[in-house]
Amino acid sequence: MSTRIFNFSAGPAVLPESVLEEARDNLLSLGDTGIGVLEHSHRGPAMIEVFEEAERLCRKLAAIPDNYRVLFLQGGASTQFATIPMNFLDRNSTADYLVTGSWSKKAVQEAKMFGTVRIACNGADENFSRIPAERDFSESPAYVHFTSNNTIFGTQFPTEPIPPGDAPLVCDASSDIFSREIDVSKYGLIYAGAQKNLGPSGVTLVVIRDDLVERGAKEIPTMFQYRTHAQADSCYNTPPTFGVYLMKLVFQWILDQGGLAGVREINERKAGKLYSYLDESSLFRPTADPACRSRMNVTFVTGDPELDAQFVAFARDRRLDGLKGHRSVGGMRASIYNAFPEAGVEHLIETMREFEDLHSDAVSRSSKANA
Ligand code: PMP
Repeated sequence: MSTRIFNFSAGPAVLPESVLEEARDNLLSLGDTGIGVLEHSHRGPAMIEVFEEAERLCRKLAAIPDNYRVLFLQGGASTQFATIPMNFLDRNSTADYLVTGSWSKKAVQEAKMFGTVRIACNGADENFSRIPAERDFSESPAYVHFTSNNTIFGTQFPTEPIPPGDAPLVCDASSDIFSREIDVSKYGLIYAGAQKNLGPSGVTLVVIRDDLVERGAKEIPTMFQYRTHAQADSCYNTPPTFGVYLMKLVFQWILDQGGLAGVREINERKAGKLYSYLDESSLFRPTADPACRSRMNVTFVTGDPELDAQFVAFARDRRLDGLKGHRSVGGMRASIYNAFPEAGVEHLIETMREFEDLHSDAVSRSSKANA
């Protein structure tokens, strides 16, 4: 097997090695069933047990209250952008959206097809480098939607926004789910594509409060009703069985790290090391406002796109892959989700120091001059 390198990909992203090993061992036979994990019917006892265990571990991990349903769906977070307004918004109602990056903008586009959208805040003017503190909610929105971590711009809500009245809070947590403690009872619905912190692409976790399952519109296609999936325990049609299996392993892995408090501590340390270096560097500059820096996606630039490209190649030669920033913003992005090893962060810092020494001439025209 070829040697693994440090993978800073924003998603699909690095998974815990022990999880991959266990999955590998079960490819040909899940336990002693004689049938590989990819080959089991979702209606058979072995896979039903996998689903039950995945849900049990998920509930344990985030202390999910009994009046919430845990659903394993398909279509990625992007399908949730449409499913949420399809269920909860109509021509006579308004939903409030906090626009803090490209993904929340996409969520808005979908919601507009179903009802009125009010932009409760918009960070576009500052190129989404900050999460605006000001909020302009409508009086009684059908729900308030926000994106807890902005994968592309590297910002993260330090705490969840407080919606007006009893409006349900809806969160796209795709890129920071289960990276820190979460009080689920503050939310109406939380959703996340699995491919960053939870498992492979192809499965979407939805945690939804019972009353919202019931509130969902009825005159919409069956597959887009939360009710359908809640009633059928996520097995209305053929579910993403392998994805749920892997998620189960990842949930157990997170519990083994000390649960959400344990991974939060590790994540704080990893991101802290990286930001400390970036703050003192004379060549590299972090792009996000310090008050809302993401612990999952650390974005930075030199100030010179050519030098950025050189650094990405330099790092790639040193076994650091996936550091190129998103195509819409450029620069660099280090995605350091739960499973990204601390040793990789340290190696990145050493590599940046090495590059900085080699380019000391560039420092005078660097970001610090532009800062
Ligand atoms: N929301 C966020 C915050 C994301 O980072 C992404 C994907 N990078 C999406 C939504 C879209 O997810 P998917 O590809 O699963 O539809």
